[in-house]
Amino acid sequence: HCVRVCMAASCQSCGSGEVLEGLQTQAKQNADDGVCIKPVGCMGLCSAGPLVSVDSDQPATALLYQDVTVDDTEDLYHSLGDQPVERLRCRTDVPFFARQQKVVLENSGIIDPEQIDDYIAAGGYRSLMRAVTEMSREEVLREVKESGLRGRGGGGYPAGLKWATVAMAPEPHKYVICNADEGDPGAFMDRAVLESDPHRVLEGMALAGYAVGAEHAYIYIRAEYPLAVERLKTAIKQATKKGLLGRRICETALSFEVEVRLGAGAFVCGEETALMASIEGRRGQPRPRPPYPAEEGLWKCPTLINNVETLANIPAIVGKGGAWFKSIGTENSTGTKVFALAGRIANSGLIEVPMGIPLREIVHEIGGGIPDGRRFKAVQTGGPSGGCLPEQFLDMPVEYDTLRSAGSIMGSGGMIVMDETSSMVDVARYFMEFCMDESCGKCVPCRAGTVQLYGLLDKIADGEATPSDLELLEELCDVVQATSLCGLGQTAPNPVLSTLRYFRHEYEEKLRPES
Ligand code: SF4
Repeated sequence: HCVRVCMAASCQSCGSGEVLEGLQTQAKQNADDGVCIKPVGCMGLCSAGPLVSVDSDQPATALLYQDVTVDDTEDLYHSLGDQPVERLRCRTDVPFFARQQKVVLENSGIIDPEQIDDYIAAGGYRSLMRAVTEMSREEVLREVKESGLRGRGGGGYPAGLKWATVAMAPEPHKYVICNADEGDPGAFMDRAVLESDPHRVLEGMALAGYAVGAEHAYIYIRAEYPLAVERLKTAIKQATKKGLLGRRICETALSFEVEVRLGAGAFVCGEETALMASIEGRRGQPRPRPPYPAEEGLWKCPTLINNVETLANIPAIVGKGGAWFKSIGTENSTGTKVFALAGRIANSGLIEVPMGIPLREIVHEIGGGIPDGRRFKAVQTGGPSGGCLPEQFLDMPVEYDTLRSAGSIMGSGGMIVMDETSSMVDVARYFMEFCMDESCGKCVPCRAGTVQLYGLLDKIADGEATPSDLELLEELCDVVQATSLCGLGQTAPNPVLSTLRYFRHEYEEKLRPES
């Protein structure tokens, strides 16, 4: 039997480390019964952790146990091959598991993220080896272009175009950067991928390095993700020792060295020019673009920056072909998307679904709907740059362009569900406070504008604002959006604008007449 224990951050925070130890103790006491106890990454259903799966490597067919404590380990161990422990059983024939389609998360919850051999046994590094020994750089690039993959960090820019710009640059020195500075409230996709399958991201980076001609790379990751940082460092050491990273990768003349750089918690460092300034040892503040990083990036060299999820898709694209990837999802949004489901939803956790899936299916089927018999009110996508979508959009397919046309964005994949008790003015105020705190202060519209916007939202929430304050709020949103230097300021008004668009009455109800 193989017993897998989720050792990603959320299960660890509710005691999966003790469960693992408890099961290992049982295994030691019964040394010769051939049971393997394996620490693995995220299984997805974070709200039911600690999770333990038995035997099958596919969650949909595995025997899955939820809310396991160290006191349950003896019963659980002795039930192997016998009757399952019904009181701990988590149903797996439910939409949460059945409706997902896994590409990026295919190894999450299955392999041990700290063992490179587990990744290799699951087919890992095969794409890299094949690419550097059998494919030209152009062929790798062609597959990525053909796949239609768009950047998963928020902007949705076609990855193939970005790669081609860096590949075509004549400069001899180029860099690859993996942006792991995930900072949107409620978002934990990148953290889970790095904690669960770090080699997949490294393989994606090495393939990117090969395609664009870069020999040096950085992963910029927030220091608040200690487990992901540790697993990443272990993975880099293991891959270097096996000759898959570092000098002469896969016994070729190619080099690819990866260094980890820790972010100190500034949200703005997720913006690519600020991120590069931070790696260079300067204060992490954005600069105007152009020049774009692909033309003039790190130390003025052409630099390819992609986020964790984008790069984690690459091994599958190179291995199975761009056409295969393109067959998933919709015409303009190909592949799958990982979402972090949070807020007032029954199944909070990590999911991966094909692009184009209706929002309703995510919220009411995979997410299990709204708990406590309450009504759905809105879903917030795209973090502080995104917007809140009401019920009328539940049948909308989730893809880059539809979300944008509805007044939100795909963003990196945070999805916060709200029920009838949520106040949309409070939601807007919360996100504005976040932007105000995180504004780097370099340009006036954002530095001063977010403070003013927050003040107005506070006044409205407290019932002290008048109709002219609401007018001022809208006017100021337009100014901050149009004149801020970087994406943080330009998109800070989005949650206000989308809640005003769909829930204006909630603002108006709080106004008092002009005195
Ligand atoms: Fe800094 Fe805000 Fe200006 Fe961006 S928009 S540069 S975060 S002050």
